[in-house]
Amino acid sequence: MAESKVKSPVKARKPESHLAMVRRARKINRELAEVYPYAHPELDFENPFELLVATVLSAQTTDLRVNQTTPALFAKYPTPEDMAAAVPEELEEIIRPTGFFRAKARSLIGLSIALRDNFGGEVPGRLADLVTLPGVGRKTANVVLGNVFGVPGITVDTHFGRLARRFGWTADEDPVKVEATVAEIFPKSEWTMLSHRVVFHGRRICHARRPACGACPISALCPSYGVGETDPEKAAKLLKYEKGGQPGQRLKPPADYPGEPARPAGTVTVEVSE
Ligand code: SF4
Repeated sequence: MAESKVKSPVKARKPESHLAMVRRARKINRELAEVYPYAHPELDFENPFELLVATVLSAQTTDLRVNQTTPALFAKYPTPEDMAAAVPEELEEIIRPTGFFRAKARSLIGLSIALRDNFGGEVPGRLADLVTLPGVGRKTANVVLGNVFGVPGITVDTHFGRLARRFGWTADEDPVKVEATVAEIFPKSEWTMLSHRVVFHGRRICHARRPACGACPISALCPSYGVGETDPEKAAKLLKYEKGGQPGQRLKPPADYPGEPARPAGTVTVEVSE
């Protein structure tokens, strides 16, 4: 078999100055904005409460699985008051497909009680308040703040952390440190959309196990080019969701999403693990 030409297009062999890294990072963000002009949160929601609940459910599972589960959940418990009064076993049964359903049910009922009793039934728009809710950590709080309150936030999930390291923005594994380092590189106004673009790229092209380097539109800016498949034809077959001609994760994607919507639960679907 012919040896593939694995060569980093970035002059990674020379140490890169901090300024050069920042310039390259900002260029990556601009290019990702062109590749994914429609980047958005991949959880279906229609109000802050739904996004909060969906984000709690998304731990340790795919957004697709959450999106297939929440229509029945929100039909039965549309408000914090309704969910606060849920019979735990009934709520558990609905959210069972998302995994860890007992702990998640406790969080959902607990956070609904807290919203009802401490915040007038409304989702608060401050990080300090959000993280007091059961099951809500910094990541969940940032998702809610960035996507319904317009408060800029960097969401360091598994995709964002992996790509930030591959891009050479940080060497840290700790999400809080990654968030702090990346926050220094980009202006605040970019934080929320940067997060969506990077996660989109991680899910579609720069996968954990087999990144599609040979089909990657930002390979010329990436010091990790070559960690994945570099053959263009083979790499093209690794692309996922709209980039690979497959349905997306949202049952109700935004109008500008160029791919197919996800299919509801119970239909035959290809489960994509990341
Ligand atoms: S797919 Fe490869 S070239 Fe593209 S960002 Fe990921 S590691 Fe870099």
